[in-house]
Amino acid sequence: NQLPADIQARVADHPCFSEQAHHFFARMHVAVAPACNIQCNYCNRKYDCSNESRPGVVSEVLSPDQAIQKVKAVAASIPQMTVLGIAGPGDPLANPERTFETFRRLSRETPDIKLCVSTNGLNLPDCVEELSQHNIEHVTITINCLDPEIGARIYPWIFWNHKRVRGVEAARILIEQQQKGLEMLVARGILVKVNSVMIPGINDQHLLEVSRVVKEKGAFLHNVMPIIAEPEHGTYFGLTGQREPTHQELQSLQDACAGDMNMMRHCRQCRADAVGLLGEDRGEEFTLEKIAAMD
Ligand code: SF4
Ligand code: SF4
Repeated sequence: NQLPADIQARVADHPCFSEQAHHFFARMHVAVAPACNIQCNYCNRKYDCSNESRPGVVSEVLSPDQAIQKVKAVAASIPQMTVLGIAGPGDPLANPERTFETFRRLSRETPDIKLCVSTNGLNLPDCVEELSQHNIEHVTITINCLDPEIGARIYPWIFWNHKRVRGVEAARILIEQQQKGLEMLVARGILVKVNSVMIPGINDQHLLEVSRVVKEKGAFLHNVMPIIAEPEHGTYFGLTGQREPTHQELQSLQDACAGDMNMMRHCRQCRADAVGLLGEDRGEEFTLEKIAAMD
């Protein structure tokens, strides 16, 4: 399955969207967003957010200033660096000052680098206006369900209007915000990718419906990722004993969701501070200490 030509042209140098590009172009994530405004049952806050990244290793949280330094250092060493993403370690839009300060400065100081951001969507409608003012190539929304009853098994609470809201009501608000944000971005011509975390026994059957709806609303890509439940990462917040899908189960769901829409099968669930070509992680070469030593 190919992406439509106009979209292909827009994402041709994005390593994540094309099998060809991912051999030649590099991407990096900067971890400027520590806070989160929801709780996912599969999240272990000790690790990076699953909006885009692998819960496995804690990224070094950077200030916007440090992030700019890092982007410049990486761009100087890796000329194929075309895309900069903010993906955590919490939710980028739950840290709007830090995220937008970083985007504002990068739009000005490194205008050739395309920007992307991933979010759980709760704060998205309020941020669309600001997002549309930067060099944002695409936004990724993690959408795990459309049904609040299922949502209540995935999200125990959200933080909304200065209060903690729980259960089905919390899931209903989150779902509404995600769908509204998706529609607003599409209306502005910003590309939207949807990530879903496949959780066997909870949303695996339901993700087909999610795929159909987000496709109908104009998301250009749907990426189904497996829940990561490695024992050394400890117990997930509220899914004790949850198993991962088998490779076969994941593949059948991806096939079923594909239809006429491209499925992204080579997403590597990178860390919130990943650097380099997909499949390689050069983050260790660009820690703050090492960047300072480069000056
Ligand atoms: Fe964790 Fe979910 Fe928040 Fe990401 S959106 S940091 S997975 S609680
Ligand atoms: Fe690309 Fe997925 Fe890695 Fe993001 S997490 S940089 S979409 S491969």
